[in-house]
Amino acid sequence: MTQVLFSFDTEDYVNIEAEEAVLRLAQTLSDEDIQGCFCVVGEVAAAWRQRNSRAVLDALRAHEVDAHTWRHSWHPNIVEYGEDSDWDGSLARFLREERYAFDLVMDVCDRERIWAFVKPGNSLSAQGIYGYTLLGAPIFGDSFVAANAGRGTWYCNALNLNYDFSLERLQDYGMTPFEERFDEWATWERLVLYAHPCKLVLTEFWDAQNVFHHNPPTWGDWVPSPRRTREEVERFFGLFRELIQRLKQHGGFEFTTYEPVWREYQANIHRQLPQEELLPLLQRAARELTWQTTADGTGFTPAELFAAAVHVLAGRPDPFPAWGVMGPVDDPSAQSDVPAQGALTLAAQDVQRAAATLEPVVYVPAAIQVGRATLGPGDLLRAMTQVLTGAQEIILEQGPQMPKAAERPDLAHHRTSGQWCHPPEWTSEIVDSRLRWQAWTLRPA
Ligand SMILES: [Zn+2]
Repeated sequence: MTQVLFSFDTEDYVNIEAEEAVLRLAQTLSDEDIQGCFCVVGEVAAAWRQRNSRAVLDALRAHEVDAHTWRHSWHPNIVEYGEDSDWDGSLARFLREERYAFDLVMDVCDRERIWAFVKPGNSLSAQGIYGYTLLGAPIFGDSFVAANAGRGTWYCNALNLNYDFSLERLQDYGMTPFEERFDEWATWERLVLYAHPCKLVLTEFWDAQNVFHHNPPTWGDWVPSPRRTREEVERFFGLFRELIQRLKQHGGFEFTTYEPVWREYQANIHRQLPQEELLPLLQRAARELTWQTTADGTGFTPAELFAAAVHVLAGRPDPFPAWGVMGPVDDPSAQSDVPAQGALTLAAQDVQRAAATLEPVVYVPAAIQVGRATLGPGDLLRAMTQVLTGAQEIILEQGPQMPKAAERPDLAHHRTSGQWCHPPEWTSEIVDSRLRWQAWTLRPA
């Protein structure tokens, strides 16, 4: 059975009309005995509290509440301030602001935990994905990283799923584009159907009206969005109910939310990697830098294999507890003394000494000093592999500093700036590069 999730970007803190859409989505799903996932912007929760929106909050009790950032596209948003060579400073800002948003949403919606997050528009940074996992939300609901027909992809320590198909297509195309895909979807592991509640009752996004490129002079000085006609609104909700019934009748679908998805994966998140199993994985990764899988099917990211090798060389106890290793946050290809022609020779002792200084690995370093040479992280992984096989003299030829996954189209061509609400002068070189460097953290779920 294909699991179907309904995920709603509940983001309009400008137009009170958007409340009707949230309320009716929640009620329609409740009538059908299905739980939806409402990804709520912090300021929306604040608006509900200020307006005392009891009906909406009561209707949401039966559903899952997830996160959609503090202020969505208000500038600078999470990706805009993420364009900062100071990783720690921008991560600290993210954690401070988004912790506040989580607390606001959990307080107003009476929740104890948030399971998933979605990004505003195209706005996500490595700080963002990693940062939300640090705040306790382990699922990234609408990742730009391909999620393998709903099975998911581990990346930046989050379980990455995709927003597969927009329910807003019901408005323009009716049931046909959905029905055409039922049989294909029924072969998938999981399907996420999504919508922006505000667009079900209004013709324009609140942020296109108010924060396109720049903020208004004053917070709260909002331009309202035009409303849809009553007929359009009723037509959508009629079609939405019909779609749910058709999915049920098909027989290939069941309904779920992010929390049970997480529970399904929870058992194989904190994995153990014994030293005897590490060596063959490292040898394969030294030949081709990518994730590796043990005979029993347990997967490890290149970052985890790197950290495991450091763990062993630093004399830490067996087995290595694999979880939470991030990739480089600075350019790992910037400097390596391994020559383009020929080889660099190093003493095993120097490699071991350098590795010991890195334990425990939180971020794969962009560059490492080994004796008098500077190595990239790919070089050090290959050098550590040789040390662990017992070599005294380490011979390094030129090789990649980035895992193969960095060449995937979703990572290689990802570009954030020049689109959507961002200021036209804003560029995203550091953000986009960092997301690519996190190919070190990628493995199929
Ligand atoms: Zn949004």
